[in-house]
Amino acid sequence: MKLLDVSAIDCDVHPTVPDLADLLPYMEPHWRDTISDRGIEAFESISYPPNAPLSARPDWRDERGRAAQNVTSLATQALDRWNLRFAVGNCIYGVHMAFSEDLAAVLARAVNDWLVREWLDREPRLRASIVVPLQNPELAVDEIRRRSEDRRFVQVLLPAMAEAPLGRRHFWPIYSAAERAGLPIGIHAGSSYRHPVTPVGWPSHYVEDYASQAQAFQGQLASLVCEGVFTKFPNLKVVLIESGVTWLTPFLWRLTKFWRGLRSEVPWVDRPPSEIVREHVRMTIQPFDAPDGTERLERIIDHLQSDRMLLFSSDFPHWQFDGDEVLPNGFPESLVGRIAVDNPLETYPRMKECMP
Ligand code: ZN
Repeated sequence: MKLLDVSAIDCDVHPTVPDLADLLPYMEPHWRDTISDRGIEAFESISYPPNAPLSARPDWRDERGRAAQNVTSLATQALDRWNLRFAVGNCIYGVHMAFSEDLAAVLARAVNDWLVREWLDREPRLRASIVVPLQNPELAVDEIRRRSEDRRFVQVLLPAMAEAPLGRRHFWPIYSAAERAGLPIGIHAGSSYRHPVTPVGWPSHYVEDYASQAQAFQGQLASLVCEGVFTKFPNLKVVLIESGVTWLTPFLWRLTKFWRGLRSEVPWVDRPPSEIVREHVRMTIQPFDAPDGTERLERIIDHLQSDRMLLFSSDFPHWQFDGDEVLPNGFPESLVGRIAVDNPLETYPRMKECMP
């Protein structure tokens, strides 16, 4: 089965805030004045510097060199082009860069309201993740409650690297609110840059930063499992977005092996981590960090011991592939329907509500 034939669901596209000025109408006057008085010009996420080649494919950039800044470009360059049924918009803005919890909450609210007005109201195929101020779980829960009433929001979005491991109890109110609303937690590559992006210190180059993101996902996954998040919230799903894919199997092998020897430390982890992760965790497929070839790809998916974990994504407009090669070269055709339709619908149940 070919991708174009299935009306796929793209689980990672990036509506991009053109300018901080575009968010000001969604803020109260006090905060507009604050931004003006402080001379704040932008909250760009430095995980995705706009001019870096990886941040947008050259043929998707506009005359200013930016991409995915309006719903028309997303519709023509991705939704129409790949015959997509739905796409999940993950807005990567620098909300997590702010040190002020109140300012972070204002920014998150403005981004979510801007998403509704400028994107969701204009494109029926688009869904979105709720951006939250992770700096303060209480304010994050307020935002989840406020925005989850709109059924077009299908997920809660967190960065892969913030101030503390995501399994800590400090963050549990967020998971409780997400589980109650029936929303998965999406953890997307990116950092608030409170700590070095590698375990060995600050790297010199962006290529090191981007390639090191997989290590952050490993740390977060271990934290979520070992702190007992999935024991406490048995209905919670977590989606690792833009994490890469092939690191998971050897990491689970290692985590499960050491859990067997050290399980007395974490008695609430009452079954092998590999089993917990297969039940609760999903991964988007771009960037697909594996060699080409059907036989090799089948072996990688076989090692996951599940065909339920992978979710189709393009990562539009990030530069993960050229032309229309949205699926890795040689991706088994027998799995296209499962990763592009069945798995996304199981992961994001709200999407089923408006299926024809
Ligand atoms: Zn992405």
